[in-house]
Amino acid sequence: IVSKLPDIGTTIFTTMSSLAQETGAINLGQGFPDFEPDPALLDLVTSAMQQGFNQYPAMPGYLPLRRIIAGKVQETYGRTYDPDTEITVTSGATQALMTAILASVHPGDEVIVIEPCYDAYAPAIRLAGGSPIYVPMHAPTEASPGYSIDWGRVRGSITSKTRLLIVNSPHNPTGSILSGHDLDALEEIVERHDLLLLSDEVYEHLVFDGLVHQSLARRPALAERAFIVSSFGKTFHVTGWKVGYCCAPAALMREFRKVHQFMVFTVSSPFQVALAGFLTHPEHYLGLPAFFKEKRDLLAAGLASTRLKVLPAPGTYFMLADYSEISDLSEADFSIWLTRTFGVAVIPVSAFYADPSAAESNHRLVRFCFAKKEATLQEAVSRLTEL
Ligand code: PMP
Ligand code: GLN
Repeated sequence: IVSKLPDIGTTIFTTMSSLAQETGAINLGQGFPDFEPDPALLDLVTSAMQQGFNQYPAMPGYLPLRRIIAGKVQETYGRTYDPDTEITVTSGATQALMTAILASVHPGDEVIVIEPCYDAYAPAIRLAGGSPIYVPMHAPTEASPGYSIDWGRVRGSITSKTRLLIVNSPHNPTGSILSGHDLDALEEIVERHDLLLLSDEVYEHLVFDGLVHQSLARRPALAERAFIVSSFGKTFHVTGWKVGYCCAPAALMREFRKVHQFMVFTVSSPFQVALAGFLTHPEHYLGLPAFFKEKRDLLAAGLASTRLKVLPAPGTYFMLADYSEISDLSEADFSIWLTRTFGVAVIPVSAFYADPSAAESNHRLVRFCFAKKEATLQEAVSRLTEL
């Protein structure tokens, strides 16, 4: 077989999780909780199965779930999506991203991808016959310690072939979030160039310090050309369930569903029924910022007593740390060294760049996941005290 993705190997998440397992390291690499979801949610799955929700649900998803998603989005961001024509339940955000890209990108199209970025975007673009055009973010400096989007470079990368622009906020791996000013810049760009948008908002409920998530759904000029993707895996600590969703205006969603129905047709029914029931209690997601902030602060305080320098982490359950006072190793080598020597697995940020070995992809930063039990975080910190 002639490979369509010859350069793609095992993902960094699998690689680092395997290394953690092999060495007995605490896994603060791959992003998933090491604690269980709410037992009430688990009971809802069992009872859905017992009530007979075991056959195919509707192709776009269980209607009561789509209705409750519509209500939640309306209440949170002020945009009304029609559950019949504008919301589709997907097999995790990953399938929603692939589906949106396959539905919108034509051979020869260019897609703006802001890097560092999540690893699922570029392969999907390439499978659609498009080309990812990478635009680096402003890297952290002494004066400005967080990552931010370089809108000047985004503007400069747009050509007559640009079809789609992908944004991700809260952002994996940097933990940065979009501001209202970012949305202003994006509005100006899409209106001038008539682009489609794909907005990966899987960490929408993980925003801390009183800040708010700037969903594209808040701005009509953005929402009318956007596929907005979210995931229950992140929101309800069930990454293994693989249930997410996409919201988009009817004309975009029509094309999305043409791909969706032949990619998966529909998504596991008892999980959809359970999630619909659980979502009737907004406190289940409204409490997330306080819940995760405590974990973030615990890890940040622990790392502060090492030579690692923690970067601001206003969103997601990830935190970056600068190891330049400790080592000159590349990020990939440092991550392996840290895992083997100190028993704590992390992810090199360079893995989120098109060329992980390039100097511009290595800022001596590694990513820690803090979606872990307090005891796990404390044990990780105690293993790192000599660092
Ligand atoms: N987008 C981002 C930014 C992510 O971090 C993840 C999960 N790690 C996904 C998409 C995929 O989400 P899901 O597990 O629901 O497919
Ligand atoms: N999104 C998760 C992370 O960034 C991992 C998902 C995966 O393993 N593909 O760690």
